Amino acid sequence: KLHNTILELKGNIRVFCRVRPLLLDTDSGGTDGDVVSYPTSLEYLGCGIDLTHNAQKYSFTFDKVFNEASQEDVFVEISQLVQSALDGYKVCIFAYGQTGSGKTYTMMGNTEHAEQKGLIPRSLEQIFQTSQSLQYQGWKYKMQVSMLEIYNETIRDLLSPGHPSSLEASGGLSKQYTIKHDTCGNTIVSDLTIIDVCSIEAVSFLLQQASQSRSVGRTQMNEQSSRSHFVFTLRIFGVNESTEQQVQGVLNLIDLAGSERLTKSGATGDRLKETQAINKSLSALSDVIFAIGKKDDHVPFRNSKLTYLLQPCLGGDSKTLMFVNISPEASSIGESLCSLRFAARVN
Ligand code: ADP
Ligand code: MG
Repeated sequence: KLHNTILELKGNIRVFCRVRPLLLDTDSGGTDGDVVSYPTSLEYLGCGIDLTHNAQKYSFTFDKVFNEASQEDVFVEISQLVQSALDGYKVCIFAYGQTGSGKTYTMMGNTEHAEQKGLIPRSLEQIFQTSQSLQYQGWKYKMQVSMLEIYNETIRDLLSPGHPSSLEASGGLSKQYTIKHDTCGNTIVSDLTIIDVCSIEAVSFLLQQASQSRSVGRTQMNEQSSRSHFVFTLRIFGVNESTEQQVQGVLNLIDLAGSERLTKSGATGDRLKETQAINKSLSALSDVIFAIGKKDDHVPFRNSKLTYLLQPCLGGDSKTLMFVNISPEASSIGESLCSLRFAARVN
């Protein structure tokens, strides 16, 4: 009960922490007293996380902490939130964390193994299934998908036929993809490809296409997908033919760029520019969520492409969930601490 009250006061912003398991073949094993642990007191069970770094202990609490949870375990906790997009809510789910902490695993997962499918495919399955069963109550739905990437504060359309070499194709003049908001509270990105979808198969195909676009862009432009934000958007238009009721919901699923700081002071050029753009947009995101949580009159949406793009879906009666993904590696504790502090600020 108390918990619910807190959620309401926070304007529907929730933070879930997910710690991925140790990966035996890639993670470094050594511990020098730096560890992730979990409080055993009942009060914090399932929502507390402790971190010991340089002999100092840091404690955090979130709405939920997942310790080695399966994709299914995680989805059970968010399926209602996903459902609310069908009911006409605007929903944003973010994955935040350093590269290698499990953001893409959480969002996309491994689609080749059913039990390892992430939140995006599971959400879509649920939405298509539910929308079909609601047909019997007179509901008809139209769904639209768009997918984009924000790299160095520049939008890239992942479903554009010309992507990623549209730069060359257009003789160096890339599309502008300007962001606008209409009076009904919708975001309009000029030139962005929006595709009508009516089955899970259709969306799976588009997801594949987008992931190809991302990886081709990576080799051609010498860029890592971990340096860009990935934004999947599903727009849902529902009309009830017997009651004439109408709903418009949006589900945004966002795999954020890696939050790691530059450790080598010598970083220059593209790498420095990239990192500055990422830092700027991640702190803009935290400022926005923080301001919404505090119910500030002024929310600084315009400080980054990401927040401006998502403006209609953040705040108001929309719902936001932030996953903070954590690696259990001792060598990552410093970064994990930064991620938890970021998440604690918006929680
Ligand atoms: P990020 O997107 O944050 O860079 P990834 O999602 O690519 O990180 O995860 C890094 C590695 O850890 C991948 O090999 C991924 O399969 C694995 N991994 C991440 N989370 C889990 C998890 N919950 N269970 C099992 N393996 C995971
Ligand atoms: Mg990733």
